[in-house]
Amino acid sequence: MINIAIDGPAGAGKSSVAKAVAKRLGFIYVDTGALYRAIGVNALKHNIKTDDHDGVTGLLPETKLELKYIDGVQKVFLNGEDVSETIRLPEASMAASNVSAMPEVRAFLLDLQRDMAKSNNVIMDGRDIGTVILPDAQYKFFLTASPEVRADRRFRELKEKGIDVNYDDLLQEIIQRDYNDSHRENAPLKQADDALLIDSSNMDLEQSIEAIISKINL
Ligand code: C5P
Repeated sequence: MINIAIDGPAGAGKSSVAKAVAKRLGFIYVDTGALYRAIGVNALKHNIKTDDHDGVTGLLPETKLELKYIDGVQKVFLNGEDVSETIRLPEASMAASNVSAMPEVRAFLLDLQRDMAKSNNVIMDGRDIGTVILPDAQYKFFLTASPEVRADRRFRELKEKGIDVNYDDLLQEIIQRDYNDSHRENAPLKQADDALLIDSSNMDLEQSIEAIISKINL
C-alpha cells in the first residue's frame, strides 16, 4: 500500500489539499483530526471538562469510533451516531486539542489509523502521522502557513457555512492550539526529519495541491 502523510498546524490547508490529492490519485483521505474531535465531543456530551484527564479517559472503554466513507466522503460515527457535523463546531477544536494531549487517547486511536493505512492507499493528515503513526510512509509533507493566513482561511470557511465567528478569537485560538499541539509531551506537532516542508502562506489551493502532486511518482 502507498501511504502519504501530511502534518502541520491548524488551518494550513491540510484537509483541502489532501482531499484533492486523494481524488486525483484515487486514494482514501483519512482526516485524523476528526477522531480527536469526536473524543472531545464525546466528553462535552457527557458534561465532562475536556481537560479532565480521568473523566475523559474514563469514557474510552465505552467509546466506539468508526470511520465510514460515503460517496468518498469521510464520516465519523461515535457510538453509532454520525457526528461528522458536530465535530466541526468551533468548540470542538479546543476540545480536540485538550483530549489529544492525553497518552491514553492517542493510544486508543492508534490502531484505527494504522489499520486504515495497512489496507488502503491513503493520504492521511494530522499532527504526528509522519513521526508516530506512519513513520514508514513513502511520502511525507509538512504543510504550514503563517497564523494570520490560517486564521483568515478558517474565518472564511466557517462564514461560508453560516457559522458566526470573530477573526481575532480565531487567531488567538489558532495560536493557543499551535502552542498546545507543539509543546505536549506525547507525539507533539513536529516536522518529521524526512518530510518535505511546504509553506502555503503565499499559495492558493491549486498551488498547494500542485506542490504535493508534483513530488509523487506512482
Ligand atoms: O486537524 P484538526 O484541526 O481537525 O485537529 C484538531 C486537534 O486534534 C488538533 O488541534 C490536535 O490537537 C489534535 N490532533 C492531534 N493529532 C492528529 C490530528 C489532530 O493531536 N493526528
